[in-house]
Amino acid sequence: MHVWGKPSLTHLRFLSTLRIIPNNTSLYFYCTASKNPSKFKDDYIKLCSKGSLKEAFERFNTQIWSDPSLFSHLLQGCIPKQSLTQGKQLHSLIVTSGLSSDKFVSNHLLNMYTKCGELQTATALFDVMPRKNIMTSNILIGGFIQSGDLELARKVFDEMPERNVATWNAMVIGFIQFEFNTEGLDLLYQMQRLGFRPDEFTLSSVLRGCAGLKSLELGQQVHGYVVKSGFHSHSCVGCSLAHMYMKCGCMGEGEKVFEGMPIHNIVACNIVIAGRAQNGHSHGVLDQFNLMKMAGFKPDQITFVSVISSCSELATLGQGQQIHAQAIKAGADSAASVRSSLVNMYSKCGCLDDSVRAFSESKDLDIVAWSSMISAYGFHGCGLEAIELFEQMEREGMEPNDVTLLGLLHACSHSGLKEQGNIFFGLMIDKYGVKPRLEHYTCMVDLLGRSGCLDEAEELIRSMPVKPDAVIWKTLLSACKIHRNTEMARRIANDVLKLDPEDSAPYVLLSNIHATAERWGDVSEVRRAMRERNVKKEPGTSWFEVKNQVHQFCMGDRSHSKWKEIDLYLKELTIEMKEYGYMPDTSSVLHDMEVEEKEQSLAHHSEKLAIAFALMSTPSGVPIRVMKNLRVCNDCHLAIKFISKITVREIVVRDASRFHHFKDGQCSCGDYW
Ligand code: ZN
Ligand code: ZN
Repeated sequence: MHVWGKPSLTHLRFLSTLRIIPNNTSLYFYCTASKNPSKFKDDYIKLCSKGSLKEAFERFNTQIWSDPSLFSHLLQGCIPKQSLTQGKQLHSLIVTSGLSSDKFVSNHLLNMYTKCGELQTATALFDVMPRKNIMTSNILIGGFIQSGDLELARKVFDEMPERNVATWNAMVIGFIQFEFNTEGLDLLYQMQRLGFRPDEFTLSSVLRGCAGLKSLELGQQVHGYVVKSGFHSHSCVGCSLAHMYMKCGCMGEGEKVFEGMPIHNIVACNIVIAGRAQNGHSHGVLDQFNLMKMAGFKPDQITFVSVISSCSELATLGQGQQIHAQAIKAGADSAASVRSSLVNMYSKCGCLDDSVRAFSESKDLDIVAWSSMISAYGFHGCGLEAIELFEQMEREGMEPNDVTLLGLLHACSHSGLKEQGNIFFGLMIDKYGVKPRLEHYTCMVDLLGRSGCLDEAEELIRSMPVKPDAVIWKTLLSACKIHRNTEMARRIANDVLKLDPEDSAPYVLLSNIHATAERWGDVSEVRRAMRERNVKKEPGTSWFEVKNQVHQFCMGDRSHSKWKEIDLYLKELTIEMKEYGYMPDTSSVLHDMEVEEKEQSLAHHSEKLAIAFALMSTPSGVPIRVMKNLRVCNDCHLAIKFISKITVREIVVRDASRFHHFKDGQCSCGDYW
């Protein structure tokens, strides 16, 4: 009969503070040889790693042991299911069998407590542990970092008489993870000075930290270090470097790192695809997607999210549908993130019904999916549906975040639901605990402006706690245009131009406002200012997709192969429209042209060309979807209403700010955009 050691008094006392009462059966721990020790050990380890703790325990109690290391398997087995009760039972067993001074066993015990989130107990245990090594402190540091308590992690770190490379790595990763970047980098340099080499995982994590902060400067510093220390050829470091550059908007640098990587894997491909998508290089996304498939990589959920979101940027429905089909084939379409991007894509391509389908077929709806669907309703002018969905979401116990609320406010403003919008805005801080960002204020200015409360809107901009940008002023400027408030427009335009003197939009808006009021002198003045400052108006471009081919039209552009037919079709259509009462709205055209010339220039606006071509190339009755890079002009808006009535077609136009659903001579925007 053999007892490993005497149960130490300190540890017995410690057990009682944890309210663990040692039972008699565990008071002594015998050591005799088992009949078939190795088979027994194998079975036992299997039970532990499977998490079958009860069975493992039974064996543990009935069998007789010779190997204290077997405690570790059982302690490890407690972690996945956070089985604290069993963990404490083991603790008792360890103490009563006199093993509490065994470094190996007590480190495993400490690890069990930290991984089960019992940091207080872990700290107390740490304090009474007679023999500690570097590993002991590392375990506790890991626990503190995991719980976000960097101060305590730092304290343990500072008190360590000796550290190893794992200690340093854990500290660097921890500090960067919680955005204490200066401290994290300081530690990185310190460890290097002391001769510890950070490993590839530490460097990857540091780079990801830089990416999260979009701190190019920091990222470049780490890049320099990576090259010096020879880690740039490690695939995970290369991926993080490319990711960092792309997150910071440096596409070229990111691509260069990607090209320089010795081997490409799915992670690297996904990083390039996501980087291109985030930086608006949507065409490049599809190219890389095809390349990666040709190279034999199987796209996963992450790939599909980026590729689908690029299709929504390009608003290419055909392509989007194809990718959707591929996602189904790859079994990736049920993932929540893929679902949300499908909701977005269909909405942005003008197919609200398909968005609703993608949303309602989802099983696990997360907040991103709900927010996407609320925004989709908003984009399409279905404010009431958006509110209804929001209320349903609340009933299901989901808490809205700033993105959800932004979508909701958008929906209210796009549908002219002033009162509801005001109420939700008021509840943002008090009920939902979300601080409004500039975007939320911009929504409110849009909402107030639309309903003609221009002074209230201006007051909101001047009194809000965030600094106004050009976008919010332009929103108010558009409202001035619609409500024909020339005085305010002039004042606001000055503010906008100060913020962004190169932007043509405020000049164009201001010139249109003056033109509507027939103040030709002022119009000339604005145009002169534009010439003097060399501000060029971005040319209007519209596009339409048919049979997977995108047809693009610029204003007055005669390069399309069917140009003659389109022109003729538009001429005939205009004659018919005029019979129905259409009067071209020439107010936004340069006034020094002849009337006929003005009408001619309006007739060749890009959206009219695209719509004419779409009507010609699709069977009657099929809804058509046209995208435009700028806001649709007054005359085109008016004309499309007539076209929808005459041709009995549903016409969906996505312009720079929203969707217009034209049907039977009406538009869903209610003539406010
Ligand atoms: Zn137009
Ligand atoms: Zn409209």
